[in-house]
Amino acid sequence: MSKMIQTILFAIAAMVLPCGAAADGSSNARLQIEWSDEKFAAELKASGVFEDAVDFINATFRFERSLVLQLGAQDGPLYDPRQDVIQIPYEFYTKVVSLFAQLEPGDEAIEKEFAIDTLLHTLFHEYGHAVIDQFEIPVLGREEDAVDGLASVLLIEYYDNGAEMAINAAELFALESEDRGTLQEEDFWDEHSLDEQRYYSTMCHVVGSDAAEYSELAALAGFSEERAESCVFEYQQLVSDWDKLLTPVRR
Ligand SMILES: [Zn+2]
Repeated sequence: MSKMIQTILFAIAAMVLPCGAAADGSSNARLQIEWSDEKFAAELKASGVFEDAVDFINATFRFERSLVLQLGAQDGPLYDPRQDVIQIPYEFYTKVVSLFAQLEPGDEAIEKEFAIDTLLHTLFHEYGHAVIDQFEIPVLGREEDAVDGLASVLLIEYYDNGAEMAINAAELFALESEDRGTLQEEDFWDEHSLDEQRYYSTMCHVVGSDAAEYSELAALAGFSEERAESCVFEYQQLVSDWDKLLTPVRR
């Protein structure tokens, strides 16, 4: 069964806008799925997770230009503003599954579930790049960090079990950091923060979303009490700032 999306806004938007048309009727620009790899489609199409996520995005946000989510692309994960496409290759999915296999060896169902959670995080991250580009949303600091933050917010605020999905996305960053080996100079000038930092930032978002519920998680991540408390303020600011920035984008 597909994940339930828990927002009144979504329910209202779905009722009022059955065809996904913009509220003012001026634009039918939307996000569309293209399954371009049979293996990828065979693995994940039936789950409906991408269709649900895309329905949620279309019901909640408008677009300046239509955008294609290409599942099974040659390259990526990436957002290409010249072609208005978000690309996620099948090889990324299989890589994520194999990394999670190190964590939960022998439990294919769990590996696949964790991989789907992280792919949704990836989709929302790339959607973040697209929305920043299409609506010229100002970004201070690294855009990569900003869209990681948006992915956390969309998962935690709109999805049942979204916090657990964000935790799984964070786990992938931890696994990727172990996979990477010794840090090289290029890791420091890369446009992304280090995988270790992306792990802690995402864990901080989850802890900050409900400090009482995730006190054990904060301890597991090694956060001091002060850091766990500051995560609450950081997460509140993150939610509030994205809410303001996405006001012109919301349907
Ligand atoms: Zn990115």
